Amino acid sequence: MGAFVAEVEKNSIAQELEISTGDELLTIDGIKPKDLIEYRYLMMNEELTIVIKKQNGELEEIEIEKDFDEDLGIIFESAVFDRIKLCANNCIFCFVNQQPEGMRDTLYVKDDDYRLSYLQGTYVTLTNLTKADRERIERDRLGPLYVSVHTTNPELRQKMLNNKMAGKIMDNLRWLRDIDIPFHAQVVLCPTYNDDEELKRTLEDLASVDEVLLPIAVVPVGITQFRETPLVRVDKTVACRTIEIIDEFNKKLGRQVACASDEFFLIAEKQVPPSEYYGDFAQLEDGVGALRMVLDDFDSRKKDLPKSIKTPKLFHFVTSVAAGTIFKDITAYLSTIENLEVRMEIIKSEFWGKDVNVTGLIVGQDIIKQLKHKKDEINTLIIPTIMLKPLTQSFLDDLTVDDLKRELGCEVLIVEDIYSTKNLIEFVLDE
Ligand code: SF4
Repeated sequence: MGAFVAEVEKNSIAQELEISTGDELLTIDGIKPKDLIEYRYLMMNEELTIVIKKQNGELEEIEIEKDFDEDLGIIFESAVFDRIKLCANNCIFCFVNQQPEGMRDTLYVKDDDYRLSYLQGTYVTLTNLTKADRERIERDRLGPLYVSVHTTNPELRQKMLNNKMAGKIMDNLRWLRDIDIPFHAQVVLCPTYNDDEELKRTLEDLASVDEVLLPIAVVPVGITQFRETPLVRVDKTVACRTIEIIDEFNKKLGRQVACASDEFFLIAEKQVPPSEYYGDFAQLEDGVGALRMVLDDFDSRKKDLPKSIKTPKLFHFVTSVAAGTIFKDITAYLSTIENLEVRMEIIKSEFWGKDVNVTGLIVGQDIIKQLKHKKDEINTLIIPTIMLKPLTQSFLDDLTVDDLKRELGCEVLIVEDIYSTKNLIEFVLDE
């Protein structure tokens, strides 16, 4: 690993210095930064000397003068430049273990790195922290963190994470409270393990560190067809009970701190709650509140939609079983605009198996397979960017947007802002 340049921002210092993709930042003032945190810290100097290793192996030493808060404008391949901290667990619900063989190596990486948690909001279990890690979290104020709690019952957590060290979760959370580092919490709900009374206990224990407790996301366990050992999926009864427990907890606490993810409401066949339920929508990336956000966004844009467009147009909008519940109304509404038709195409997850129905896991081969028979009627396909791996044009199965275009013989438009309907509306109204 290293501090490799993925992109250089336009009109930035880095562009001026002709730093380019593939170059490696070796040192700043003689120090080799371990990660983006240290890089940002070193960047605070107004005068600095950096050493860049160009792609051809040449070393360039560059002296820079800049404002203390000015960045170079480099986007790095990874936020961690040394070795990513790997997890020391083997969780019963781990998604990494439920993938087929032969996928890209990076998809099998089990990271559990507090630096990525601080920088990118990935969840950590706090089971692999060294003394030096703890000192750094405290010294550099690395919060908020995102903690995969799952359960606060020590024996149960050891069992669920398959790690003898996992039982000390409350000690760790109390430590975060004592050093005043706030944290978001996550519970992956596995029926018969940490649901019902165990969930109540977990929420109550979390309330005991209320001073630093940020929103708690409760998400259902994801089960793919590649799983080797059985695990009970969340059904309607469990989903309803979980939503009820969370509501009771929030009521007792007097503030809206725990949220059930969108999937719980879909499984429970309940309407997604109003925006107040989600507070400041802090855990959208975890599938908590995304459906409400999109619905409210579309409602706010409806009044500005035209009654008709000049040229007749037909679009096919690709979505998942889960998001289809809200996009059926949105696409139907857009289709009331004269000359415009937006057809929703719900793609089932044949790749991962029938129990997986979230948009982010839809793969290219499922889209091609399920839409090939409509090839002649599809001119323009609209897909959300969440189906693609970050900063790429590839789906999780490594098929690309170009494969889709070629196989279906159509144009493909990508909705970048997945929490709003702005891009979708712009695409379909563009004359
Ligand atoms: S912490 Fe658990 S769920 Fe996360 S990668 Fe490790 S084993 Fe998998």
